[in-house]
Amino acid sequence: MQNNPEPSETILILGGTRDAADLAKELVAAKPGARIITSLAGRTREPASLAGEVRIGGFGGIEGLARYLTETGVTRLIDATHPFARQISVNAIKASKLAGVPLDIRTRTPWAKQPGDNWIEVETLQTARDAIPPRARVLLALGSQHIDMFGSRDDVHFVVRMIDPPEQRLELPDHSLVLGRPGDTPAIETMLLIAHSITHIICRNSGGKAAYAKIETARELGLPVIMVGRSK
Ligand code: NAP
Repeated sequence: MQNNPEPSETILILGGTRDAADLAKELVAAKPGARIITSLAGRTREPASLAGEVRIGGFGGIEGLARYLTETGVTRLIDATHPFARQISVNAIKASKLAGVPLDIRTRTPWAKQPGDNWIEVETLQTARDAIPPRARVLLALGSQHIDMFGSRDDVHFVVRMIDPPEQRLELPDHSLVLGRPGDTPAIETMLLIAHSITHIICRNSGGKAAYAKIETARELGLPVIMVGRSK
């Protein structure tokens, strides 16, 4: 009898998202004989626990990832990274070819503009910043690392929503800070937008359900959304 039977397959999930965590859980439950490994970049100090195995840190570019695939005997690679994490997805395409491992791309599809949406579509955060009209009151629905670049707009009031308090003072001349997760219903988002007299929303087109309530709310209230697209 063999003590350590070979796994029926070895799946590497490039993760760092809620979708990737859900996928790991699903695959671990569905494939008891398989080895399911989730890879994290290592950006979060205390990542939430994940089903299956976890490895942390960069691979060292395309060659590094290809080597890892071969040495670990990966039989299937799944890209479930965040839609705005571009480099790792490019690396996954090239490394999967080099190593001859099939790749499944499971990154979220962007939101599509619906009738009634008033979107100003831009390609970069810089263009988003420049598209804000003077004296606007803007909900900045962006990660903390993208906030400081809006500091040059001292003619605009920003409302910044963050899950955790910022570690350093925000470099925005005129702003209010709202601590908490995005509301998951349009009713909650409507209260926030009205309470702060928001005239514009700035966000990235990340797709998915979790952050969509603000987009539906903007549609209902007729508010413009400065939407940063992605080139993934
Ligand atoms: P990125 O710019 O595409 O990747 C930069 C480098 O980080 C990659 O070349 C790779 O290093 C390493 N890396 C990225 N994702 C990795 C993973 N899952 N496992 C191992 N190494 C990884 O990525 P990013 O925008 O910095 O995002 C990093 C991670 O955070 C991603 O896994 C993503 O899913 C998650 N995330 C990103 C965002 C966002 O807005 N960008 C939002 C939420 C979550 P090597 O070349 O050395 O392999």
